[in-house]
Amino acid sequence: MGVTMENPRLDFLKNVPLTELHTHLGFCVSPTMLWEMAHDQGLKLPTKNYWEFEQMVTIYERKNYEEYLMMYDLTEKIQSSPEALFFAAQHAVSGAYRTNNITTLEIRFNPILRNRGGERDLDHLIVFALQGMERAMLKYPVKAGIILMMDRRFTEEENAGIVKKAIKYKSRGVIGIDLAGPINRTDQSRMFHPSDIRHLVKQAKNAGLGVTIHTGEATNVDEMWEVIHELQPDRIGHGIACVNDSKLMEYLRDHHIVLETCPTSNLHTKLVQDFDHMRDIYATLKANGVPFTINTDGPEMQRTSLRKEFELLLRNNILTHEDILKANEEATQATFIPSTV
Ligand SMILES: [Zn+2]
Repeated sequence: MGVTMENPRLDFLKNVPLTELHTHLGFCVSPTMLWEMAHDQGLKLPTKNYWEFEQMVTIYERKNYEEYLMMYDLTEKIQSSPEALFFAAQHAVSGAYRTNNITTLEIRFNPILRNRGGERDLDHLIVFALQGMERAMLKYPVKAGIILMMDRRFTEEENAGIVKKAIKYKSRGVIGIDLAGPINRTDQSRMFHPSDIRHLVKQAKNAGLGVTIHTGEATNVDEMWEVIHELQPDRIGHGIACVNDSKLMEYLRDHHIVLETCPTSNLHTKLVQDFDHMRDIYATLKANGVPFTINTDGPEMQRTSLRKEFELLLRNNILTHEDILKANEEATQATFIPSTV
């Protein structure tokens, strides 16, 4: 465990198996690997200079939320083939173990955003990603699973397609569904309401899939309430907006709806202003008993890792050792990956 040895602050995590629940496949492949993958496919990139490319797929300066999501577009394009998804998933699982000793990992991606406008077959994309994940699991003692994502920009038919595939591959490594995507980019995304996908989420649940929804990140508490009432998710992606509503926090605590918080990501998207703001958020979550986990959202693009997130929270007196161990335990309990994997 080289990483622990190099950082005495994290010695308490020595021999602690770590769990990460919220990481996007588009953002857990290194820029070098993405560069290689793009060239292997003969893709025309916006730049021929590697260092410029690296800046395009990693965050160096804080961006607003919609700008930040634009960064996905390029990585999604590069991952838009079965082979690319195989390598990406394999790399994500292997990297999580080697860099962080993560032994339980959930990865999420949207297959429709990788099908080149309908040119690629979704089953091929999903199966190759699952096989890449499995291949890494042969090399390292990691339990992994894939969450398929719906999108706020999608038509009902497209989101229904995602859920259909999630159900189809449920016994083969797909463990849950999610919803994400820009809020203000298209007419469809601006008009989106959680109730639009209520029946789809219900189908997924009935099939035994886990449900997590991105809300309370760039959206407010009103949407969080709507998500909770309409979709009853097991977990929430981010959800930090809840700190403004004590009734909502009480609900999350009493129904044990687990937040997947992503500290560095929230700083990068300016949704959290600074460490003082972050300290207030976690203090409020703790004081109100809201169950939360710590995640990267995508380590390569955020230029972080789960261990670096822990280190940052400790160094800035945001969480204690006990809080971090508790958050990790919470993640281990809240995973959608069946214990039989
Ligand atoms: Zn996310």
